[in-house]
Amino acid sequence: MTAAAAAEALARFPTPAATQGPARPPSVSFEFFPPKTEKMEASLWQAVTRLKILAPAFVSVTYGAGGTTRERTHATVTRIQRESGLAAAAHLTCVAATREEIDAIAKSYWDAGIRHIVALRGDPPAAADGSGGLGGRGYQPHPGGYAYAADLVEGLRRVAEFEISVAAYPETHPEAPSAEVDLDNLKRKIDAGATRAISQFFFDNDAYFRFVDRARAAGITVPIAPGILPITNFAKAAEFAGKCGAAVPPWFAALFEGLDDDPATRQLVAATVAARQCAELRAAGVEHFHFYTLNRADLTVAICHMLGIRPQAAAPAVAAAAG
Ligand SMILES: Cc1cc2nc3c(=O)[nH]c(=O)nc-3n(C[C@H](O)[C@H](O)[C@H](O)COP(=O)(O)OP(=O)(O)OC[C@H]3O[C@@H](n4cnc5c(N)ncnc54)[C@H](O)[C@@H]3O)c2cc1C
Repeated sequence: MTAAAAAEALARFPTPAATQGPARPPSVSFEFFPPKTEKMEASLWQAVTRLKILAPAFVSVTYGAGGTTRERTHATVTRIQRESGLAAAAHLTCVAATREEIDAIAKSYWDAGIRHIVALRGDPPAAADGSGGLGGRGYQPHPGGYAYAADLVEGLRRVAEFEISVAAYPETHPEAPSAEVDLDNLKRKIDAGATRAISQFFFDNDAYFRFVDRARAAGITVPIAPGILPITNFAKAAEFAGKCGAAVPPWFAALFEGLDDDPATRQLVAATVAARQCAELRAAGVEHFHFYTLNRADLTVAICHMLGIRPQAAAPAVAAAAG
């Protein structure tokens, strides 16, 4: 890291005084992806078990790029809700299915007790690895399908009274012709019935703050939860960021420089960086954080701890909601 980059990285970190947010801890949600193998399944359950005591408002499970994980997503969402007692949300995309097929999937979620859908357009199956949201470009609506997320939200409202969350892009969706068009699209999704936006991950809080200001000015009043990606592997995160239009500022990259073969230090740096990012967001009044856990608990637990979140013995969210 050059001295200049180090100085900028340091300047980016809020001072302790600036991190004094509201006394009460924020609420959180955790995103998982459906496991492919038994080994991956075991690590998912380890993560769910460690994270559930932090009493998230909900957890969500992605739907693989191209709709490739339909059964696995269903099995994972329903198992999490049934066995952990957490309120689980299913991601659902418009890709590669007719309206009738999507409606039937949604209905089966409702029948299984799932009340929350994260409604997305989805991407073509270029990166069909189940990680969600990292597919390639060249999206074509399925003939007879829902074309965009706003259409899906409208369709879901006809199926049942789901709580619906949608995606938002602080740095603009890569295929949108302009930031204004993208914001209009978010407004359409909210007007169609979504009650929460969850943001794409970002590393520069100023991008999120500017976006929220613009959304409020455009009449979008629903919560816009910042999506936080704790960095387990910087090279991979930078590659994901490139695909989904999230900038990796040089000062941020500099913090991870030289740590590719030093996982222990990288983990400490990642926790510090994300905790500082969240502290600054919290100080600015953010009430809810959504964590892209990648099915790992360590960093998310550490960041939540630094946000003041402590293990709860309280009844799981879904049981409380049902009562
Ligand atoms: C929180 C979160 C979770 C995600 N989870 C998943 C997941 O589980 N599985 C997965 O495959 N992907 C997931 N993604 C990625 C997402 O599917 C992609 O980013 C996808 O490219 C866009 O989805 P969207 O719902 O934002 O689409 P939309 O809101 O439909 O917008 C997509 C693009 O189309 C444009 N657009 C919208 N309507 C129109 C129209 N009528 N005419 C022309 N252009 C239009 C928009 O401006 C935008 O550029 C997730 C993303 C986020 C932020």
